Amino acid sequence: MDKICIDDLKIFARHGVFEHENTNGQDFYVSAQLWLDTESAGMTDDLEKSVDYGAVCGLIGKVMTENTFKLIESAAQAVAEAILTAYPLVRQADVEVRKPHAPIPMDFRSVSVKISRSWHKALIALGSNIGDSRTYISDAVEKLRSSKYIREVKQSDLIVTKPYGYTDQDDFLNGAVLCETFLSPHGLLDLMHCIENEADRKREIHWGPRTLDLDLIFYDKEVIDTPDLTVPHPDMQNRDFVLRPAAELMPNYIHPVLGISVAELLRKLKENG
Ligand code: ADP
Ligand code: MG
Repeated sequence: MDKICIDDLKIFARHGVFEHENTNGQDFYVSAQLWLDTESAGMTDDLEKSVDYGAVCGLIGKVMTENTFKLIESAAQAVAEAILTAYPLVRQADVEVRKPHAPIPMDFRSVSVKISRSWHKALIALGSNIGDSRTYISDAVEKLRSSKYIREVKQSDLIVTKPYGYTDQDDFLNGAVLCETFLSPHGLLDLMHCIENEADRKREIHWGPRTLDLDLIFYDKEVIDTPDLTVPHPDMQNRDFVLRPAAELMPNYIHPVLGISVAELLRKLKENG
């Protein structure tokens, strides 16, 4: 992909853990690389099809001077978030915040933080079988939709399904959401847990009744196996109530471990009863 690069934009700001840094301020240098496709702008000579780097510099200046962060990590995060949110054409923002006058009593050139944030596609499965399931699910979708970390939310139809695993409980309402997020997989899982907790979710019986269950099914083509997160969701291929909404939203997505499409996984599950 193409890149627009801004190098060492000098900004006087007040970030730091010491009070004197917040009071007196110092010079920071911000560099940003914006990853986007510039082909159509390059062929038509039309700024509308690219990103105005002057405006981006203005935005960086605003974020750096209108906030006082303790950490340059936070300053870099805020700059990356602002760029990704304000410029939909930018797929990835690499941001460096450099602090050459950091209060370190030694000889050094500068200290800096470099981060990279980008838009990722995520499929989240939704389920509920206690109380007003339709409201629990629509509230959850609304919270995802209004999160600053998420865009392009597409929702599947909702379906009524029989309980799975622990069968002595009410029918479920299920669906899925396909979206883009610049959260990491674990960051997205944390957000999903917050939304579950706000819906009075209690973790009592594994696979038991719940007001709201949000499971991360896919995250780009990533394969993740950590104690608290497995992606693709390890049982999705056996769950009709996950595959049907998934097949509605992304039938041609190839499961990165099983190597076949979502539509094909659904067909196989139906075939095997
Ligand atoms: P289940 O959905 O299997 O009934 P829970 O919703 O109670 O169970 O989730 C239990 C734990 O599963 C969560 O705390 C989470 O850390 C972990 N987990 C692992 N992989 C995933 C995933 N892909 N999506 C959601 N949770 C996951
Ligand atoms: Mg769950």
